[in-house]
Amino acid sequence: MSDANWKVAAERDLMSLGGRPRLFESGSGSYVTDDAGREHLDFLGGIAVNSLGHAHPVFVSAVAEQAAKLAHVSNLFASQPQLDLAARLKRLAGTGEDGRVFLANAGSEANETALKLARLHGNPRGKTAILSLAGAFHGRSIGALSITPKAAYQDPFAPLLPDTRTIEPTLDALEHAFAADDVAAIFIEPIQGEAGVRELPDGFLARARELTRRHDALLILDEVQTGSGRTGEWFAFQLPGMLPDGELPDAVTFAKAVGAGFPLGGLITFGRASDLFAPGMHNSTFGGNPLASHVADRVLAHVEDEGLLANVTRRGAQLREAVSALPGVSGTRGAGLLIGIALERPIAADVVAHALDGGLIVNAPAPDTIRIAPAFTVGDPEIEDFIRRFGDALNAASQSSETTA
Ligand code: PMP
Repeated sequence: MSDANWKVAAERDLMSLGGRPRLFESGSGSYVTDDAGREHLDFLGGIAVNSLGHAHPVFVSAVAEQAAKLAHVSNLFASQPQLDLAARLKRLAGTGEDGRVFLANAGSEANETALKLARLHGNPRGKTAILSLAGAFHGRSIGALSITPKAAYQDPFAPLLPDTRTIEPTLDALEHAFAADDVAAIFIEPIQGEAGVRELPDGFLARARELTRRHDALLILDEVQTGSGRTGEWFAFQLPGMLPDGELPDAVTFAKAVGAGFPLGGLITFGRASDLFAPGMHNSTFGGNPLASHVADRVLAHVEDEGLLANVTRRGAQLREAVSALPGVSGTRGAGLLIGIALERPIAADVVAHALDGGLIVNAPAPDTIRIAPAFTVGDPEIEDFIRRFGDALNAASQSSETTA
């Protein structure tokens, strides 16, 4: 389809939600090709989703195999892929025997499920407050939006869920928030992705664990972006310095990288949070269907069998070192292959536009931050190509900002 045609069709037929500067037709590894046949290096990975890159043989054969066998039966019945995936997720998260898994379709839906857990835990105790952190992103559905404290996202949809409270991500604010003893749960991203790949203050998660225990509240981690291997651990709460040895959260939500491009999300519970739902209280027609479950199980098996988490850690460090040496970069944040690149000046939107012109996909979660979340499979050639294209985009953006200044 010609350029003009697809843009007209997109405007005419799709909900107007912004974006869509390119139409992509195919992908292979870390590259995607647009309708003009132009290759782009994809270092955003569909916003931290394409953990094995594009058209990976493991992904392709898992989809084909299971689609030809059994795609969907609903949660009125069990399927082997769902059981295999749940067992694997419990093991990777370290839940032990009393862990449980709920499979859904996306990050927002996983967080909706976690919000219902918060109510089930809090209501009998007379605790209704649900805390989240300034800068948090938990999703766009009304519940998840209620704990995503950004005026531009929330205001048009008010009124939202009652008794959701935002606190600053500081140890003092955390302490203060639990003082009234009315908290049912706190939602925390171990690293805030949409805020610009922002890390929590030292000791924050450990203190949250201590306070939630003392005040009988749930500690719910949103690992939609950080989970499933993205940070070099299966879940970011397993990174050194996050939680004291032997400590675990009450629930962890996941999505994105787990399906490597196949839509799947869900929730893992630990200990007491595993018994909160009773039959009839919750479910999802598509959630954890055999097709999605088999793909996610095969993707995670491949990451395990090939030792890809070690590559995530190693390539993350390599990228951060190389990127830090570029002019205009003031530092990096994040873990593994979830990296925020801090710019000296707030020209991130311009950098993204120049990058795209030069055939590189990245995004700008904040005016002074570029986010990259490449495939777990990246190696030297992709990293060298990235540094070249990203360096060019930085140069072009800083030159155009100087001429317009
Ligand atoms: N939580 C976090 C931390 C996220 O980054 C996102 C998506 N960016 C979501 C929840 C929502 O996930 P989804 O778009 O799959 O509903």
